[in-house]
Amino acid sequence: MNNIHPIFDRLLQRADREKLLNQKSKVLWLTGLSGSGKSTIAQELERKLYNEGFLCQVLDGDNIRSGINSNLGFTIEDREENIRRIAEIGKLYLHSGLITICSFISPTKVSRDFAKSTIGADDFIEVYINAPLEVCESRDVKGLYEKARAGEIKGFTGIDSPYEAPVSPDVEIKTDECTVEEAAQKIFDNVIAKIAVTNKTI
Ligand code: ADP
Repeated sequence: MNNIHPIFDRLLQRADREKLLNQKSKVLWLTGLSGSGKSTIAQELERKLYNEGFLCQVLDGDNIRSGINSNLGFTIEDREENIRRIAEIGKLYLHSGLITICSFISPTKVSRDFAKSTIGADDFIEVYINAPLEVCESRDVKGLYEKARAGEIKGFTGIDSPYEAPVSPDVEIKTDECTVEEAAQKIFDNVIAKIAVTNKTI
């Protein structure tokens, strides 16, 4: 660390970039079981925000795990490191002025609290994508529940690894009770006042 000389104070600031983009940056953190709808809603929400003139970036579990986190597995340590890196990337995007939609199971309160403290409580919006395990399992989008039940995947969240539901999320979406469009709209309605600058026309 002795030979590292950060130059943050000589660079343009987040506020400069927010001004250029005419938006206030935030991190929307989508948490929920596999198959609850995080990726689907993230895509819909990104498009919706883009159509309204907001610049967003989606960080999605499988994309990150196939790239920057390809060396990580699903042990407790690796899951923690996965979230640590994602939170740091989210923070970089935040300071780039973007609205970042993070879509990760993030099963433990500790991991979400860690992300929140890395990003900063004022800029972190926790969105609980909630669907009963039976519903997620019946969707089985990627066939992973079947494999987990057959014992082919160990430590699968909801089957043999716990999911701790958020106690007081900023937004909760019950995806077995609404459409994808309704889900994205509810999140949009919740965050719009936090990301829009007053002179933006929507
Ligand atoms: P995750 O990213 O949480 O693992 P996915 O988005 O990959 O989940 O899969 C969710 C599945 O549930 C998709 O096939 C999607 O079409 C379906 N689905 C049904 N209703 C909803 C809803 N209201 N919101 C999101 N997804 C829904």
